[in-house]
Amino acid sequence: ALIRRVVFVTGAVDMQKCPPADRGEVAFIGRSNVGKSSLVNMVTNRKSIAFVSKRPGKTQQFNFFAVNDKAGVEKEIKYGDVVEGEKDADSFYMVDLPGFGYAKAPDAQKQKWKEFMHLYITKRPNLRVLFHLVDARHGPTDEDAAIMKQISEDKPPHVQYVIVLTKADKNVKGAAATNTGKVSRDVMKKVQTTMEENGVAKAPVILSSAQTKLGRNEIWKYLRRAAEF
Ligand code: GDP
Repeated sequence: ALIRRVVFVTGAVDMQKCPPADRGEVAFIGRSNVGKSSLVNMVTNRKSIAFVSKRPGKTQQFNFFAVNDKAGVEKEIKYGDVVEGEKDADSFYMVDLPGFGYAKAPDAQKQKWKEFMHLYITKRPNLRVLFHLVDARHGPTDEDAAIMKQISEDKPPHVQYVIVLTKADKNVKGAAATNTGKVSRDVMKKVQTTMEENGVAKAPVILSSAQTKLGRNEIWKYLRRAAEF
């Protein structure tokens, strides 16, 4: 298997706290409850890695996970431990970006997070793929649109932006009945319109489901870009 180990490395609140940029990296962003943890577990064949966006008090961190790091055995490394990275040839980082969509955070914290996000996208030299998760049942929210805009403005050419429509197993009214997943024509149209309006018209859109494993291979196509860094 391509994935031998997934270990939590660190939670960062600024660029200085990010681990050394010594391997390729992919990041996942999306509103809370979009299905981010489920998707990452599906993609990595884990029942539950520490990739949990609901960890109390840690939701504003950028959580770094090392895939195929030489350091140790998965279960011996606990949340909060820092792994001294020693990388296998195909090692890469998966980064869980904070889930947005909760208006609860204080403005100062939101501002700090926005600034970190901006620096991360523009300055992280090993970032290869940015996955933006959007619920296939509802399509992009206003916040999703704002994130798209920011990404299209910030993204350097070496970062591939990919939109992943999650939960595409659900039965929805007027869904296009194909074997490639279920998403209504209205939602698909909304996705395309929002992309065009925010300058990301050429980004790939992947239909996915943690339940049926839909989209797994296509997502892996992009993970390989980080693994081959
Ligand atoms: P997160 O907050 O973005 O990490 O979201 P979770 O992965 O915790 O998922 C939120 C909810 O959506 C949970 O109740 C999941 O069981 C459900 N869910 C996640 N992925 C899927 C999916 O592909 N299909 C369906 N039907 N439900 C899903």
